[in-house]
Amino acid sequence: MTQPDFDLILAGGGLANGLIALRLAQVRPDLRVALVEAGEHFGGNHTWSFFASDLTPAQHDWIAPLVAHRWQRYTVRFPTHSRTLHNGYYSATSPLLHAALCDVLPANCRFTGVPIVHVTPDSVTLGDQRVLSAHAVVDGRGQGGAPALDLGWQKFVGLEVELAEPHGLNDPIIMDATVDQHDGYRFVYTLPFGPTSCLIYDTYYTDGPELSAATLEQRTHAYAASQGWRIARTLRTEKGVLPIAIGGDITAHLASRAAGIAPSGMNAALFNAVTGYSLPHAVRVADLVATLPELSGATLDRAIRDHARQSWQDQAFLRVLNKMLFRGARPDERWRILDRFYKLDASLIERFYAGHTNWRDKVRILTGKPPIPIHRGLAAILRG
Ligand SMILES: Cc1cc2nc3c(=O)[nH]c(=O)nc-3n(C[C@H](O)[C@H](O)[C@H](O)COP(=O)(O)OP(=O)(O)OC[C@H]3O[C@@H](n4cnc5c(N)ncnc54)[C@H](O)[C@@H]3O)c2cc1C
Repeated sequence: MTQPDFDLILAGGGLANGLIALRLAQVRPDLRVALVEAGEHFGGNHTWSFFASDLTPAQHDWIAPLVAHRWQRYTVRFPTHSRTLHNGYYSATSPLLHAALCDVLPANCRFTGVPIVHVTPDSVTLGDQRVLSAHAVVDGRGQGGAPALDLGWQKFVGLEVELAEPHGLNDPIIMDATVDQHDGYRFVYTLPFGPTSCLIYDTYYTDGPELSAATLEQRTHAYAASQGWRIARTLRTEKGVLPIAIGGDITAHLASRAAGIAPSGMNAALFNAVTGYSLPHAVRVADLVATLPELSGATLDRAIRDHARQSWQDQAFLRVLNKMLFRGARPDERWRILDRFYKLDASLIERFYAGHTNWRDKVRILTGKPPIPIHRGLAAILRG
């Protein structure tokens, strides 16, 4: 039997597959792993932020080459209060992911600027007609359709800007909800990269995925002006429409992905139900893949699908909260739910985002003075 070209082909060179490639290169350098990306660079155009408490110390160590910014605390602002929380907040970037992958993957395993037109369990066909073969293929080509999932949306436009004078921020403001509310729950999120540079995201928790980039850019400029920041130039723009999980059938979702080809990242619905963020999930999957006893297509497919199913089940409570936010609260009162949440104990908030909420936390989150009329919250939950 002829040997295939690779042990593993990672279809799509974004965050999830990039992290699998990086981790395998660190732990299993004997494997021949190909990473195939349609864009000119691995990782696209992203800043991936996460809480320090989302990852274990070992995970922090192995993704350290991707992390461009680290802060020891972050702030939230609401109409009724503002607060600084002492949990680290970190940002990884696409250029650092690209550079790390170019360091560890041999040139003949890196394919960029070439779209994949067909994927089978043991091959991918490229737009230029080349066919690459492998023992296994992982499909991480992004979100794709998700008709089996009931989703709300977090959408945003982010402007990385250079200001004329220092912004005066030391730490990120991950939610400034003192802004005018439009189109659901709106907040502005600011990451201060240097004394005069920052990334400002105008963000919305909305029912629909439509995004008017021009309007959001205008509002970002208005927000900057309201903070006394004069934008000298815009360095980069990011746009995102991220899924927020309200309900749905994860088994049907995974069954809609081609059999025998392990889905990864957003393609496998591996994201935080409340934020739509996927970096911590992608780190966990990369660790999972790197520790599998063998990397046959069947083993990988089973392991990642089982993990995705478990991860979805583990987030059942978050989906209940999303149901209250999207279906129980009117769009103009959604901010009240977050306002109240951010008055809770700091360690509870850490556990919440890291996916370690315990039953006491759940009781604490659901009891007390309700931010929306209790009958509407319950009706949203019971509607199923
Ligand atoms: C603007 C933005 C900001 C975000 N910020 C955060 C954040 O701060 N923290 C966080 O945890 N999450 C964040 N997310 C959410 C999520 O983590 C990212 O979307 C993440 O990149 C998803 O990883 P992925 O690997 O599933 O998909 P992607 O990173 O999108 O990777 C898919 C890759 O497949 C490639 N591809 C698609 N089709 C083909 C094809 N036919 N042939 C070859 N290649 C193909 C794409 O070009 C892309 O590079 C953000 C998302 C966006 C859009």
